[in-house]
Amino acid sequence: MFCVYLHIPFCQKICDYCDFRVMPVQPRIYKEFVSFLCKQIVCFERKNPGLLATAQTLYLGGGTPSVLPAEYLREIFECLASVGVNVHKLTEISMEFNPESTNEASVEAALELGVNRISLGLQTFDAELLKLVGRSHSVEAGIRALNLLTSRRGLQVNADLMFDLPTQKVQGFLDDVDRLSDFPLNHVSFYGLNVSPRSRLGHRVSRGELTIDEDVYEPMYLGGVEILERKGLKRYEVSNFAREGFESVHNQNYWNCGEYAGFGPGAHSFVGGVRYYAPEIYPRWRDYVSAGCPSEMLEVDVLNRESKIMELLWLSLRQSRGLSFADLEAIGVRDAEKLARPCVDKWIGKNFVVKSDDSIRLSGRGWIFMDDIVTDLSNVYSNLE
Ligand code: SF4
Repeated sequence: MFCVYLHIPFCQKICDYCDFRVMPVQPRIYKEFVSFLCKQIVCFERKNPGLLATAQTLYLGGGTPSVLPAEYLREIFECLASVGVNVHKLTEISMEFNPESTNEASVEAALELGVNRISLGLQTFDAELLKLVGRSHSVEAGIRALNLLTSRRGLQVNADLMFDLPTQKVQGFLDDVDRLSDFPLNHVSFYGLNVSPRSRLGHRVSRGELTIDEDVYEPMYLGGVEILERKGLKRYEVSNFAREGFESVHNQNYWNCGEYAGFGPGAHSFVGGVRYYAPEIYPRWRDYVSAGCPSEMLEVDVLNRESKIMELLWLSLRQSRGLSFADLEAIGVRDAEKLARPCVDKWIGKNFVVKSDDSIRLSGRGWIFMDDIVTDLSNVYSNLE
């Protein structure tokens, strides 16, 4: 399956924990940004004729795509149509929204363009925590956005929560999950806060002004999973939960090692077995596009057998369906199951992994130890002849 990702790098305000390549909203460069984004898309089409027309999903992420005025979104969609992307036939068109830019007009504009899935960055219902991590919206704005989005018939809605925020209590997060799951949502995601030392929050943590309590991670994660599963939202990936049939098609393509083209500063692509990354810094990305998108300006990763094995382990085990040994054999690992048996038996003994037929998957507290389990398996398959 082939998918298209568009990175819109603007945000109303930069959150204190954020270390993505994003910039505060700059209406004066929207026009320029969209024109370079379209040039990049056209450039890709010239180098890979016909490939974009095979796309099955489109994802507008960022950043906060919902800050981009409707006329610019329309221009981007017209450009996609001009290179053969039939937006009316795509299985899924997702767009990220933040509460402060969710209103009748922005939602209507997205729906008119064909967007059929909106992902809302809600993060928490706790006003103090929103302030502490530097989010730009209020609890009330989050609730208004949820009500507006879930009232749209036929629109798939996801909402994101964060956990393990500084000072957050286990019960506080579980109350967030409970409250969110009372809205008529078909999809919820939650992520443990990963504090980058480069972020403002990271500086506060390193100065000792704030602490991240690692002990609350496990009861928050496992408690959150339990609440969602009780309400019919099943975990299909470590951080993603959906009612059956509402799983994100676009994101599953990433986790199933499918190919995609990404456009915008720092966007990743995976085409013809090669992963590459456009320049992240806006002026460098602009130079790259102006120069006709030369491959010398990209960071490129050609996947060898070892990196394919590592990717398969990381991407499969994060999904509830788990890892199939047949998939390892398909990329050239002989006796994949036999080689892993002592390692797998150790994790089965702890009830962290279950085995069925030809595959293994994480279970119970195994989800908390996902990194250790994958690293252990990686060691089994590293340096194979
Ligand atoms: S909204 Fe998301 S991308 Fe934008 S600053 Fe906040 S965390 Fe970063």
